[in-house]
Amino acid sequence: MPSLKEECGVFGIYNNPEAANLTYLGLYSLQHRGQESAGIVTADGYHLHHHRQMGLVTDVFTEEVIQNNLPGKNSIGHVRYSTSGSSHDKNTQPLLVTYSKGELAIAHNGNLTNARTLRLELEKEGAIFQSTTDTEVIVHLIARSREEKIVKRIIYALSRCKGAYSLLFLTPDMLVAARDPKGFRPLVLGKIGNSYTVASETCAFELIGARFIREVEPGEIIVITEKGLESYKPFPEEQKAACVFEHIYFSRPDSYLGQRNVYQVRKELGRQLAKEHPAEADIVVAVPDSGVPAALGFSEELGIPVDMGLLRSHYVGRTFIEPQQSIRNFGVKLKLHAIKDVLDGKRVVIVDDSIVRGTTSRKIVKMVRASGAKEIHMRISSPPMKFSCYYGIDTPMRDELIANSLDVSEINNYITSDSLGYLSMDGVMKAIENYRKLGDSEHFCDACFTGNYPVEITDSKLNLEQLNLFFRE
Ligand code: SF4
Repeated sequence: MPSLKEECGVFGIYNNPEAANLTYLGLYSLQHRGQESAGIVTADGYHLHHHRQMGLVTDVFTEEVIQNNLPGKNSIGHVRYSTSGSSHDKNTQPLLVTYSKGELAIAHNGNLTNARTLRLELEKEGAIFQSTTDTEVIVHLIARSREEKIVKRIIYALSRCKGAYSLLFLTPDMLVAARDPKGFRPLVLGKIGNSYTVASETCAFELIGARFIREVEPGEIIVITEKGLESYKPFPEEQKAACVFEHIYFSRPDSYLGQRNVYQVRKELGRQLAKEHPAEADIVVAVPDSGVPAALGFSEELGIPVDMGLLRSHYVGRTFIEPQQSIRNFGVKLKLHAIKDVLDGKRVVIVDDSIVRGTTSRKIVKMVRASGAKEIHMRISSPPMKFSCYYGIDTPMRDELIANSLDVSEINNYITSDSLGYLSMDGVMKAIENYRKLGDSEHFCDACFTGNYPVEITDSKLNLEQLNLFFRE
């Protein structure tokens, strides 16, 4: 249950009379990727129509809005948590523009590492920005391209961009999907009847009854028109860097990444964790919901029963009326409840998928201890997170990550557990490989654990602090 804010989710469908409805359902399945705003843009062959707002998918769209405001057979949608740009209406996506070649909408999951550099360059040339998202940089590059055809304009724009992008573009008669050459963020292609569909995760296909065809390949641009599907690979091939944290935490457990079921990989992470850091205990307790699969794997490996010592409230809204400052730990108690009868007098292993700042883990340990646990052994199904992500995940600044300044025994002291064990990076890779052998070209980004950034953070040459301010204002 890390306090990481997630990223974004995208969904698109071409040539379906229920385009807006299916996009709504696709976004609903991707809600875990962003809860701050949602938007849909549809195309009727002549014009684009949109509805975007702050809020959850079910709050933003009503039946009336979908039926009356979103006509057309082609559609793209977006759920957002702000990874770049602030949380304002103006930053909701898909972005919609009218430029010299007509109307264009764009939905982005990821983060450009040279967005600030490009933005300064464009502003010097007279560009005026309406939002603070890096996605608008792509729009300006497309609009300024000298190429005639939209696909070539997109290729030009993306050739200038560095970092992470899984993108959907919609014109009145065309849907384009593009994934960066490293393939940081997932993007998958499916089909429902005669309609192609594209989504951040396969779980969006499940709900609408679409068939998974394949992943959009890193560096690939897929163009869908009434003539069918065309694939372009305009950029030199690069070593891949799929985000390993999608397996650990971000993606929904029923999704498939690189043909691996996310739930099964997470369970395997728990098994590896048990091998690396066994514990003598009476029960294994998951930090719900994201720690559950790893806790099951941990329990199976050591033969220690898993029990529901912590319960998650599903009814906490985005805002609640805070009590007086003096009532401590109130926030975590709203989200998690300890079941005293399960924990009292027990030696407990708590399994979670990561520790970010450490404050939540500390509160959980205190809550479990207050419920009578005799011993508390914290086990984490990923390595210590020491570095910030610049590829689309809203991690805190590096110096706010507890593992950046404290070693494992110091973190153990801080969170007040009796022992603490993190899964090693080798253990993570074993869990992934145990499910399915790595393909020849398969490589992962693990920069938040190792500091090995696969794409240089170009903007940092300007001023890393400024970059973060820009991204997080
Ligand atoms: Fe994923 Fe971490 Fe790489 Fe970001 S830095 S893309 S969270 S593995």
